[in-house]
Amino acid sequence: MNVIVTGARGLLGSEVVNLSSNPIPITSKDCDLIKSANLIEEVSTNHKTVIHCAARVGGVKANTDYVAEFFDDNMKMNMNVLEACKNRKLKLVSVLSTCIYPDAPYVSYPLTEDQLHMGPPHISNFGYAYAKRMLEVQSRAYRQQFGCNFISAVPNNLYGPNDNYDLNTGHVVPALIRKFHEAKINGSDKVEIWGTGKPLRDFTFARDAAAIILWLAENYDGAEPINIGNSEEVSIRKLVEMIGEEMNFKGIVDFDFTKPDGQYRKPCSNSKLRSLGWKGEYVSLRDGLRETISLFAKNYPNAVRGVV
Ligand code: GDP
Repeated sequence: MNVIVTGARGLLGSEVVNLSSNPIPITSKDCDLIKSANLIEEVSTNHKTVIHCAARVGGVKANTDYVAEFFDDNMKMNMNVLEACKNRKLKLVSVLSTCIYPDAPYVSYPLTEDQLHMGPPHISNFGYAYAKRMLEVQSRAYRQQFGCNFISAVPNNLYGPNDNYDLNTGHVVPALIRKFHEAKINGSDKVEIWGTGKPLRDFTFARDAAAIILWLAENYDGAEPINIGNSEEVSIRKLVEMIGEEMNFKGIVDFDFTKPDGQYRKPCSNSKLRSLGWKGEYVSLRDGLRETISLFAKNYPNAVRGVV
């Protein structure tokens, strides 16, 4: 399948590009999708599917610090991308996130796709969450009125090579890998962890998510979003232990309770994906971390480049 990939340099987009045979990668350098998505129309002569990975994203702190920008930028980008896909009658796969689901007590766990609009999102990321929810609404509306073949996939916490290793704006896995690595090379015996360590997250290796998204592009044509994440929950404390072990860190970890915990949990069900016929297996968290850590160490310090 010939795909056009937005956000092609990012954590997810780069994996989609790697797994595709003849992709057209679009990066923020090629085109500022917040202003216009004309480039998608220009390159779509032989490429009829768009995998839309571009987004203004960040970890728990960035989501609050840049709440308005995360709302604005994602709304504008998505309006432009959907318009371009409609004009050229392209198939579109949009990428949502489990962090846009309502928070407790409005939902039951594991999160199923029908609960997406059943209550407000967690307060720490409402700008991002509502913009992404509108992406799902707009896709559904375009499908209904204009017959667009637009679908949406819902990953959970992604990690892998090509992540954002900026400590203020990135997510927990890249932040921990960088902190442990720098503590070791600086001879420090202490690493600071945000929050209480109690929140639970389910992590999916970005390459697995990319493979499922490409599978959905070929095998699914429906309005309902599809959860695509690995459904195994792990506490942040356990994640810290695992990364510390893999990186052979012998010092102490210090939980900073003044830093945000974010949502307590957001486990998702992938039974709809299975019922559509997806039969793959997820890379285990330990194996995915091992590969990510080894590439990070090999590319350090070049791997450290913030993207927000
Ligand atoms: P979230 O899933 O949207 O909340 O995104 P994050 O990956 O940013 O955070 C996940 C959890 O990891 C939260 O409970 C954070 O408090 C916790 N955490 C612990 N240390 C860090 C850190 O150094 N950076 C980030 N981003 N999160 C951390």
